[in-house]
Amino acid sequence: MPKVVTRFAPSPTGFLHIGGARTALYNWLFARHHGGDFLLRIEDTDKKRSTEEAIDAILKGMRWLELDWDGTAISQASRADRHQDVALEMLANGKAYRCYASTEELAEARETARAEGRNFRGDLWRDRDPAEAPEGAPYSIRIKMPREGEVTIHDAVQGDVTVKNAELDDMIILRSDGTPTYMLAVVVDDHDMGITHIIRGDDHLNNAFRQYQIFEAMGWDVPVFAHIPLIHGMDGKKLSKRHGALGVEAYEEMGFLPEAMRNYLLRLGWSHGDDEIISTKQAIEWFNLESVGRGPARFDFDKLDNLNGHYIRECDAERLLSIVKSGLENTLDRALERAEIDRLSRALPALAERAKRLPELVESASLFCNTRPLELTETAAKQLTDDVLPVLEKVAKELEAVTEWNGPVIKAAIMSFAEAEDLKLGKVMQPIRAAVTGGKQSGDLVETLEILGQDETIGRLRDRVAA
Ligand code: GLU
Repeated sequence: MPKVVTRFAPSPTGFLHIGGARTALYNWLFARHHGGDFLLRIEDTDKKRSTEEAIDAILKGMRWLELDWDGTAISQASRADRHQDVALEMLANGKAYRCYASTEELAEARETARAEGRNFRGDLWRDRDPAEAPEGAPYSIRIKMPREGEVTIHDAVQGDVTVKNAELDDMIILRSDGTPTYMLAVVVDDHDMGITHIIRGDDHLNNAFRQYQIFEAMGWDVPVFAHIPLIHGMDGKKLSKRHGALGVEAYEEMGFLPEAMRNYLLRLGWSHGDDEIISTKQAIEWFNLESVGRGPARFDFDKLDNLNGHYIRECDAERLLSIVKSGLENTLDRALERAEIDRLSRALPALAERAKRLPELVESASLFCNTRPLELTETAAKQLTDDVLPVLEKVAKELEAVTEWNGPVIKAAIMSFAEAEDLKLGKVMQPIRAAVTGGKQSGDLVETLEILGQDETIGRLRDRVAA
């Protein structure tokens, strides 16, 4: 097999769509699996709808997902001259012809075809002599589609798909203003970029038959097509705004890790036995087009959450710390102090066990920041009634006397205090927890106190007494 070259060819009209991200991922994996190239082409020919911001959003989304492309991103619009040359070459070779029909004539012919139950092929000038056109009249260039036979595309995902050539219209390849149509631009670019495999959404399957004819007309190799089913929402309907987040950046904001996203998008339409957790390294090793499903995949946030939880737990300690640190610095609007960072690095492994999304983790980690006096949740406030405040005061004193601040010593101090006061352990622990955490989700209390440190713990207890 010659070197594999794939491409992702988004139209920059908004954000990086979640379905587009999956298409990009499959192209990337396929190229990486085969040691080939993965190219990026921005299909920015629709000047009215393409914006710089949308291009930036796509590049940003790709970078966030760590889908690195080879070479520089190619702008389709910048290649218009080349597209035009190809149209003229097709004209010169008799594979295309000039069409002088006006918009009105075409509309009329379309109407007649419909009334007669025929396919409209736009072929008013196919067999006419251009000399019949008025001097200097504007014309577009149309491809001369074959009328006989049929074409079978051996789609790597859909299997063999056959279309009768008679169903194809003589589509315009170059408009009368000299601009290329999308259908022409895609084929010329795919050829010039040396694309061997076109992996894209199955909403482009019909286009493949029209594009095939341009490849043929130019005598170019036709790439392998692989049309992947679209993503549907949980309700089985095509993914749309109603289903919520469509852009990749929304997933970054919701606190998903890029590796979790890759794993999720990979499984959304591709499988490897019963494996759910598939690292990127394994994905590169295993990815193939044969195992892409033929049915539409359903988007499922619970699955994504579970995978994200897995990757949060797997996350390298330093990276997780830096993510949480910047999250906290954002919410607190200040830099974290050394002591806070130290507490975080000790607390994070346990916190990571429970988190599904990063904001949740940041929220639970905020417990370890200097934010005295803490705000109390309603539940915590209810637990800190007047009659427990003397207990807190005494326990603070007891903990102040501790000379070696570590788990077993702290625990022993609290237990002996409870015993001396003739209180059930819970009656002591519960108000301590409420005062020290303010009611935030927290794990093992003694461990929390240990990590918070002696001064901070006593400070938080005394804040309540003083309040
Ligand atoms: N620009 C097209 C789109 O965003 C993709 C074209 C292609 O992959 O051939 O849907």
